Amino acid sequence: MLGAGINGLATAYSLLKQGVTNLAVLEQFPMGHGQGSSHGRSRITRSTYSTSKYVELMQVVHGRLWPAWEAAAGQPLLHKNPGIFFGPGIGRYQESLRDVPEVTVEEITDEEARLRFPPFLFPDSPRVLVDHTCAVVAADRTMRFLTEQLRDHIMDNCQVQLIDPGPQIFLDTTRGPMECERLVITAGPWTSRLVPRLKANLRPAHQDVGYFEIEASAQVGDFPVWVYAGEQADDSFYGLPEFERPGVKLARHRTGPHGDDPDRPIGEVLPEEAAADLQAFVQRQWSGTARLVGYDACIYTNTCTEDFILDHLPEDPRIVVGAGFSGHGFKFAPLTGQVLAELAIFGRTSLPEFERHRAAFAFYSAACW
Ligand SMILES: Cc1cc2nc3c(=O)[nH]c(=O)nc-3n(C[C@H](O)[C@H](O)[C@H](O)COP(=O)(O)OP(=O)(O)OC[C@H]3O[C@@H](n4cnc5c(N)ncnc54)[C@H](O)[C@@H]3O)c2cc1C
Repeated sequence: MLGAGINGLATAYSLLKQGVTNLAVLEQFPMGHGQGSSHGRSRITRSTYSTSKYVELMQVVHGRLWPAWEAAAGQPLLHKNPGIFFGPGIGRYQESLRDVPEVTVEEITDEEARLRFPPFLFPDSPRVLVDHTCAVVAADRTMRFLTEQLRDHIMDNCQVQLIDPGPQIFLDTTRGPMECERLVITAGPWTSRLVPRLKANLRPAHQDVGYFEIEASAQVGDFPVWVYAGEQADDSFYGLPEFERPGVKLARHRTGPHGDDPDRPIGEVLPEEAAADLQAFVQRQWSGTARLVGYDACIYTNTCTEDFILDHLPEDPRIVVGAGFSGHGFKFAPLTGQVLAELAIFGRTSLPEFERHRAAFAFYSAACW
């Protein structure tokens, strides 16, 4: 395994479960670092998606795969939480939800939504979707659980600098040369440094996250997780209550063909432009006061379709890539981990729900923005 973010850990955990013990997880930074995409206390999980394949896949993830992780962890990792979806762009969700009628998503008026979900005002959302499958993922606890399971296999402070496929796959690393029979690359925004052909389609995009203290209770379970869908996909915001930290998390969902440097140093405070963007959103959409009390930085790896790449290299089935999680990959980790593990061992998966949509996750190196 190359990379120990959530996808690398999930894949390695699935490999272990399938009996693969001759396994190393190489991570360039110390475990628990905050420079990739997988740090922080919480993430949203939901069924509401603008493409029905994700709505379908989430049924497997919520129904079977997260519960299996929770049973193994001996603790809840998903915390049930109301979830709302609003804004002028929610039509794209309504259509795909219609294709999967078993999902429990309710549609209510803005008037009812204002009563049920203060301090939201819904000024430009005559209809609001309430997704009853939403939860807050205890992201850092999930990372710790997987790290603990893999403690004998993780080698951190080990950067892979070169991959040379021969009879064995040769890796040049900062901790010396290594060889392996199979390699799964889950290097997040650094992936195209190792697989340069993916540079056009894998676009890292920094994300600035603000924490706002509000008058209402902002505890997990009380305050909704929410997505505001603007007219255009890149005019979207989201937020959620956070474990053990004051304030509601709020950010713009920055998609599209950026090309940010994943090694950029992260500042201490929310950059002025991002703060103004989030404050303007709060003023339009929430009643009462909201005070900025904290900041986090994170990074997405966007693809042009926002579909993940879960495939082997076209010319070498021994090397599998999991990348392009486009800001929505955490909730899928139990599924994507199993997919990548099975692709590495067998070349196909035991998940018919995934196999049905496999073409959408194929290795795709061209840019299509
Ligand atoms: C602000 C923010 C909010 C998000 N909210 C949600 C949400 O609510 N719900 C949701 O489902 N998803 C969410 N996501 C997306 C989700 O967190 C990501 O899709 C997921 O974390 C991607 O994980 P990864 O393992 O692919 O990448 P990463 O976490 O970036 O891991 C890649 C790892 O590979 C290592 N690596 C890279 N190159 C090398 C090398 N050469 N040698 C060794 N190691 C290397 C890196 O150091 C890193 O640890 C959010 C993301 C962000 C940034």
